[in-house]
Amino acid sequence: MILMNYVQACRCVNVCLNERKDMANKNERLSQNVPGFYYVDATCIDCDMCRGNAPDFFRRDDDIGYSVVYRQPETPEQYALAEEARENCPTDSIGNDGVEVAENHSLNYKS
Ligand code: SF4
Repeated sequence: MILMNYVQACRCVNVCLNERKDMANKNERLSQNVPGFYYVDATCIDCDMCRGNAPDFFRRDDDIGYSVVYRQPETPEQYALAEEARENCPTDSIGNDGVEVAENHSLNYKS
């Protein structure tokens, strides 16, 4: 079960009703993410989904109160896990900088 505090709930409602976006915003990429394709942007609502589903790549930064990418995926299977977290993020706060992970876990890079 996911529990949210008041601030998280307000941010989620605001994003869902007013600011719903299709993808993470590269310009709002948090500086606490490690370099690489995957990142979390500043619209994260700290819901814990990515950390629970892909703990090898996402963790909470307690200083800022958001999830960040602390390790980038390297193998096709790891990319699949990170991609699943990206797709399931309720606020589309996870970006992948253009990487497409195919059904067979192969990678395609958008220019
Ligand atoms: S799933 Fe999205 S909103 Fe939830 S903690 Fe991860 S990045 Fe933040």
